[in-house]
Amino acid sequence: MSKDNKINVTIWNENVHEKTNSAVCEIYPGGLHGFLAEKLNSPDLNIRTATLDEPEHGLTEEVLNNTDVLLWWGHAAHHKVEDAIVDRVQQKIWDGMGLVALHSAHMSKIFCRLNGTSGKLHWREVGERERLWVVDPSHPIVAGLPEHFELPYEEMYGEPFMIAADAKPIIISWFEGGEVFRSGFTLQRGYGRMFYFRPGHETFPSFHNANVIKVIGNAIRWLKPAYRADYPKTHTPDSLEVISPKDFKHVKAGIIR
Ligand code: ZN
Repeated sequence: MSKDNKINVTIWNENVHEKTNSAVCEIYPGGLHGFLAEKLNSPDLNIRTATLDEPEHGLTEEVLNNTDVLLWWGHAAHHKVEDAIVDRVQQKIWDGMGLVALHSAHMSKIFCRLNGTSGKLHWREVGERERLWVVDPSHPIVAGLPEHFELPYEEMYGEPFMIAADAKPIIISWFEGGEVFRSGFTLQRGYGRMFYFRPGHETFPSFHNANVIKVIGNAIRWLKPAYRADYPKTHTPDSLEVISPKDFKHVKAGIIR
């Protein structure tokens, strides 16, 4: 939290499609990062953006130390994200920072590391209807959402989705072509939490949808760190009780009397 009690949000975007496909900039003026910053704008949030081309991808120690929740949109340039920066992001999540991984971030280095999986899935890009179902209406991330809502044009993502076994689904999708998908799930890693949210293909207007923005906004507030510290914070403590002397020859041999 910042001194003014606002949640510090950093929206990271690889910003690659925006440079090569004019349709993306027509749908998302200012790029996906700039558009999301405007849509999510709220008095309780301090929002900044960062992109791949900036020094250290815009994710310096200082930026991440002052980020409560990081949003991540990447697709074509996952491999260009430097491992040292991914190490840094991972450490900050272990320390308590929140992460919202959007759409094709399912193959980003940070997503795969946090899940311990490949992040792979089936996909089809023809612009089909997606119906998103809330499967855990008790979760704050879906507060104010209907039982289900639809996006008229999206890329299909289908199961099996290679994610962590302890991922907790909150939203699942059905697609016009018949597939289903775990579209919204949470994970805890160290002191930090992440939320993956599926919609947001760069050539479809899903981030214009009020329910999609509501989910991302709710996620930011839910992911706000309640506790933040070096993880794991380890030390060699003095014993609280007197520890009786042992015959170390036997202990080391695995024979304890
Ligand atoms: Zn896509």
